[in-house]
Amino acid sequence: MTDAVPQTVVAALEDPFAQLTGPLAGTRKLHLEVAGTGTLTPHMQRLQLTAAELDGFSYQPGQDVMVLVAADGRKPVRRRYTIRQFDRAARSITIDVVRHGDGPGERWVASARPGDRIEGIGPRGKIFPDPAADWHLFMGDESALPAIQVMTEALPGDADATLVLEIPEEADEQEVLAAARTRVSWLHRLGRPAGDPSALAAEAAEVELPPGNGRAYLLGEARVVLAMREVLARRGLAEDQMSPKAYWGRGRANGGHGEPARDA
Ligand SMILES: Cc1cc2nc3c(=O)[nH]c(=O)nc-3n(C[C@H](O)[C@H](O)[C@H](O)COP(=O)(O)OP(=O)(O)OC[C@H]3O[C@@H](n4cnc5c(N)ncnc54)[C@H](O)[C@@H]3O)c2cc1C
Repeated sequence: MTDAVPQTVVAALEDPFAQLTGPLAGTRKLHLEVAGTGTLTPHMQRLQLTAAELDGFSYQPGQDVMVLVAADGRKPVRRRYTIRQFDRAARSITIDVVRHGDGPGERWVASARPGDRIEGIGPRGKIFPDPAADWHLFMGDESALPAIQVMTEALPGDADATLVLEIPEEADEQEVLAAARTRVSWLHRLGRPAGDPSALAAEAAEVELPPGNGRAYLLGEARVVLAMREVLARRGLAEDQMSPKAYWGRGRANGGHGEPARDA
């Protein structure tokens, strides 16, 4: 039973998130324990995390939990992972994490064993399905797969959803089970580096944009998200029809607050 960050180190942290106010209003601190971990697809690890504070927890599909994966001296290092499932009775959440190589989040996921403890804060995040949208377009890389799946699953049966998902290889595809009318395109990278905007930007140029007031959710690597946003804007989508969110930056570790550094 290991703590991701030892309690003595946690107690000495200079933590900008010590108070759950401002952007953290409405969140709660979660004393999470790893209940299970296993390989979901070749590049995705699934973890179940339990906490007593998940009693009475609620969240919007697409929201995430921010976990304290390491300390850099007295600075906390946090990473954010989408809540893929919530089991109210078991007081547990499931997160699906990309196995991409190295980083404090990656190292925690690789070593996590049942009984290990980690501090979380959640729910976080402002992007969830827009109930007023006539259609929904979800585009992103594998880091966004959990968010795109959970948001698609939350749509009602009369909704229309198009999913364009870039993943490392065919074996990383997952079944999308949704009540909504759903079309899914998988783009296999087949050795191309993650975070190269070319394939998703090309799809953004071609994907059907039906008439009506649709919404595009653009999630994943920072430059990829920017490229998709620019292409869709050129095709006439208004800024308020797009929900872009950079999850990570190619070649650069995320900041201690779990998001790409601003100048990345
Ligand atoms: C709101 C939000 C929700 C998110 N939800 C999820 C989720 O559900 N599942 C998930 O896996 N990720 C998710 N992410 C992304 C995840 O938090 C980042 O990928 C994070 O940087 C991983 O931390 P790390 O310590 O492993 O790597 P870092 O220390 O951040 O980076 C180390 C190196 O790895 C590279 N790298 C980081 N992430 C990736 C990646 N995905 N693919 C390829 N290279 C990478 C970086 O470019 C850097 O070179 C989310 C991010 C946000 C902001």
